[in-house]
Amino acid sequence: MINGSIDLRSDTVTVPTQEMRQAMLTAPVGDDVYGDDTTAKALEQLAADMMGKEAGLFMPSGVMSNQIALFTHVQRGQEVILPDNCHIVVHEAGAAAIIAGAQLRTVQNRNGEMPLDVVAHYIRKDPNDIHQPTTGLITYENADSDGQVRSLTYMQNIKSLAEQYNIPIHLDGARIFNAATVLGVDVKELAQYADSISICLSKGLCAPVGSILVGSREFIAQARRKRKIIGGGMRQIGVLAAAGMIALKEMTKRLYEDHENAAYMAEQLSSVKGLEVYRDRQQINMVFFKLKDYPLSSAELVAYMAENNVIINGEDNGMMRFVTHKYVSKDEIDTVVALMKKRA
Ligand SMILES: *Cc1c(COP(=O)(O)O)cnc(C)c1O
Repeated sequence: MINGSIDLRSDTVTVPTQEMRQAMLTAPVGDDVYGDDTTAKALEQLAADMMGKEAGLFMPSGVMSNQIALFTHVQRGQEVILPDNCHIVVHEAGAAAIIAGAQLRTVQNRNGEMPLDVVAHYIRKDPNDIHQPTTGLITYENADSDGQVRSLTYMQNIKSLAEQYNIPIHLDGARIFNAATVLGVDVKELAQYADSISICLSKGLCAPVGSILVGSREFIAQARRKRKIIGGGMRQIGVLAAAGMIALKEMTKRLYEDHENAAYMAEQLSSVKGLEVYRDRQQINMVFFKLKDYPLSSAELVAYMAENNVIINGEDNGMMRFVTHKYVSKDEIDTVVALMKKRA
């Protein structure tokens, strides 16, 4: 529970753990714009080391990490090839046009995976043609916002295609530790196929605030300047970085519990009359289902659950999503399923 409710809207609702609160209280801090915050520096280096990259940069949000990555990788007017339903396209308020000035070349896809032949076709081949834009970046997510995990083979294939044309890859790794957990590999195995990666600390990893962008030393030095341009130079951020350290060191190890709970919830919800549960879409901590012949509409279900101290989102694109995290126990899942059954 969080503040007395079972909250299934997202893993972003997780609150900092007691250990995080304690670490925040005693963290050494300094002015990070002067380079004096040793806790922020330690967190950036830890993230870089875990990802097998040279350097990292603390950001207040995943959106800012992504947008600074675009701002740093691409020139104004250059194209970014990316899935048409990804976070950068759908959930970042058009920032790529405003900040990086990028042209987004969106790729239709199934299950978030851009077909390689389409990506190859979309890469601009002739830099001397003054009519055409040039391709500045390829980006995609792992895991994606729909809870799907890209395989290592897919990541490798995209990387080798990009290398043929000298195009960098940015990986939106908001939930990269969930993906690594599903694939059963060290996160470095995924990170090796991208030039830059953004990681969220405040989703399933429970930190109150924060994201880290990692990449080469040179890339991160440029990104630090870009972050300053949009007003993202922050002062005593060690208080936040202290929680981030615990997020990376400890919370990454427990994500399998959220995945197991989501699998259990998918199985239990499958026995509720009127629901169509997309069990093959359950890979990480998300369960997707349709209110097929369920007597309540999405809005009625949201209201009914709220009366019973369960907070959920309404349907999006005709699809309901329940998300598990550190503050949803197996017993609480049973409570939720029982509530769903009661009205079925
Ligand atoms: C959550 C998320 C982000 C960043 O969101 P913030 O709320 O800014 O931290 C970026 N990409 C994906 C795929 C996400 O799920």
